[in-house]
Amino acid sequence: MKMLVGLWIEIEFAIAVESGGCLPASAMFGLHKLSRQMRNVKGTLAGFGGGNVEASYLSSRNFSTQQQHRVLKDIPEFVKIVEVGPRDGLQNEKHIVPTAVKVQLIQMLVSSGLPVVEPTSFVSPKWVPQLADAKDVMAAIRNIEGARFPVLTPNLKGFETAVAAGAKEVAIFASASESFSKSNINCSIEDSLVRYSDVSIAARKLSIPVRGYISCVVGCPVEGKISPSQVAYVAKELYDMGCSEISLGDTIGVGTPGTVIPMLEAVIDVVPTDKLAVHFHDTYGQALSNILASLQIGISTVDSSVSGLGGCPYAKGASGNVATEDVVYMLNGLGVKTNVDLKKLMLAGDYISKHLGRSSGSKTAVALSKVAAPASKL
Ligand SMILES: [Zn+2]
Repeated sequence: MKMLVGLWIEIEFAIAVESGGCLPASAMFGLHKLSRQMRNVKGTLAGFGGGNVEASYLSSRNFSTQQQHRVLKDIPEFVKIVEVGPRDGLQNEKHIVPTAVKVQLIQMLVSSGLPVVEPTSFVSPKWVPQLADAKDVMAAIRNIEGARFPVLTPNLKGFETAVAAGAKEVAIFASASESFSKSNINCSIEDSLVRYSDVSIAARKLSIPVRGYISCVVGCPVEGKISPSQVAYVAKELYDMGCSEISLGDTIGVGTPGTVIPMLEAVIDVVPTDKLAVHFHDTYGQALSNILASLQIGISTVDSSVSGLGGCPYAKGASGNVATEDVVYMLNGLGVKTNVDLKKLMLAGDYISKHLGRSSGSKTAVALSKVAAPASKL
């Protein structure tokens, strides 16, 4: 029986790979190190009954090693994934998700190996009713070990409440767009930077790391295109005030590598690459290509949301964050370490998708579930 399962997957994958269907990242970018890649694909499938998937087509591929190195030489060996699903993902859900479900989700995400999970936000419940239970969530996850839990704090008051609730790390959120700043956080960029400076001074006194988010780094729903120099300006301000990491967010998911790369180039001129993270929404299906471009520039921290949860209430039409499962699948394919167990991650995605009553927003999760389902019937 085991042999049959392995054979089925082998045939399925051989067909899919030949047609370029199953490994889109590889097909698109002419990826290298096939043996390393296939080791990872095999690892990916191991939990789904996959056996020897390598043998059938390994020898038929002949990529140019030199060319591969030229394209992928700067990709980091390890990528830290910051899971934002419980906060960024759930914050716009209309129906209130019970605290126990959020806690279970966080527990499952940590169990999958994710090193950082953003559990909630200390923004006023008036603005984000879904996260009104921030204190309860923090109390419930106090004893969960193995991950860091930064929480969003909009101002000094939010910071103090978060610290009292047990937060050991916080995040602040500025915008590269003046209009978006006013609609999202009710103040100008300059005013927000003053406010965040107060938070960062208070955090420094307590040795609490501060993550700085910048929204609308390539486009704004009101202003349209955002100039790279504007993003670089805000990034430098956040860096100078002591942010330990700055996450560059394409909040409405309009960026392509054509706009993301110039933005990143402007930012890395003023902030060290190892202090930067990228945060892409997948509205136009560009998130993975934007992540790959960011990795090629040397960025090694990527935000994502399990099952692609999320959206933005102030950015009409913006779809969810890039799905963590899809990011892990791509990184596995590239041979980049994440320490995340894709199978366990999929269980977390399945858990929250079922609770929300919808199918997963992760193409990887959907595809691997289909692989697993017929195989289990053999
Ligand atoms: Zn987001």
